[in-house]
Amino acid sequence: MVKYSVVVPIYNEEDTLPELYRRLEAVMRGLGEKHEVIFVNDGSQDRSLQILKTYAAKNPSVKIVDLSRNFGLQPAYSAGIDHAQGQAVIPMDGDLQDPPELIPRMIEKLNEGYDVVYTVKTKRQEGFLKRFAFSAFYRILRKTSNVDMPLDAGSFSIMNRKVADIFKSLPEKNRLVSGIRAWVGFRQTGIHYERDARYSGPPRQTFFRLMRMATDGLFSFSTVPIRIATFLGLFASGLALLAIVVVLYLKIFTDVIPVSGWASTMIAVMFFGGIQLVFIGVLGEYVCRIFDEVKDRPLYLVKETVGFRK
Ligand code: UDP
Ligand code: MG
Repeated sequence: MVKYSVVVPIYNEEDTLPELYRRLEAVMRGLGEKHEVIFVNDGSQDRSLQILKTYAAKNPSVKIVDLSRNFGLQPAYSAGIDHAQGQAVIPMDGDLQDPPELIPRMIEKLNEGYDVVYTVKTKRQEGFLKRFAFSAFYRILRKTSNVDMPLDAGSFSIMNRKVADIFKSLPEKNRLVSGIRAWVGFRQTGIHYERDARYSGPPRQTFFRLMRMATDGLFSFSTVPIRIATFLGLFASGLALLAIVVVLYLKIFTDVIPVSGWASTMIAVMFFGGIQLVFIGVLGEYVCRIFDEVKDRPLYLVKETVGFRK
């Protein structure tokens, strides 16, 4: 019986793989328990897959899930977690920003009786802007979401079989590992670590992808944006009602309404026009997500698996 499953999404990481494999294997072998390392090849265009296959050929604990194309980080994680057979599952980025050496500490915590041990980044080796964006994202997410999300906790974590099974059984398509993990509840704790810089090359996640992940987090775990629309709408309507009364009064009982007033009219038109457009957009975000869920397409497609025994 497999005790630990490490799930690592890989997208064009040929330069990192040898070092990743070496460090991860050393850590996992050091645990002295039966383990598997599931690499999910997310449509890499470089030699990542060939390299992974050489590892799988010489090491039976290495398994590969090769996706039919690039689906993105979160679907890749889902693919790996779906294939994991271990009693505990460890999602981990494949760029060595999540240090494998932390795994024994995570396991130790899990053995204290927790269902989930997540990791909290205390320092990021990234540019100021990205650090700021991440920190803002986590804070907004925490403030707006309907679940209690730990701050600065990413995918890197360990969850026991119970939580992994729940994760697998959720029917939704928008799956943020950190979000769902927080959503399930049970006994959770975090450990702190300094996040390393990427071992090699620029981030594989484009800025656009990161933004989408951020909006996914926001809109899938929170109805606050749409509520803001309701409240702003109510507020604006109240204001408009008041304005109508004032305008009518001026029109009927006084003669102070001159032809002027262009400025105020323009301001009002533009202001409310802007608000309306923004919230049509917000509505659209939810509609898109409903659309995605209703289509009910699979989250990912597998081309081939290597190393799994039936
Ligand atoms: N990754 C992936 N599919 C993608 C983009 C990234 O599987 O479309 C993998 C990548 O190989 C790495 C992990 O996801 O192992 C994290 O990617 P990256 O470091 O680019 O993201 P960031 O750390 O900036 O969130
Ligand atoms: Mg990274």
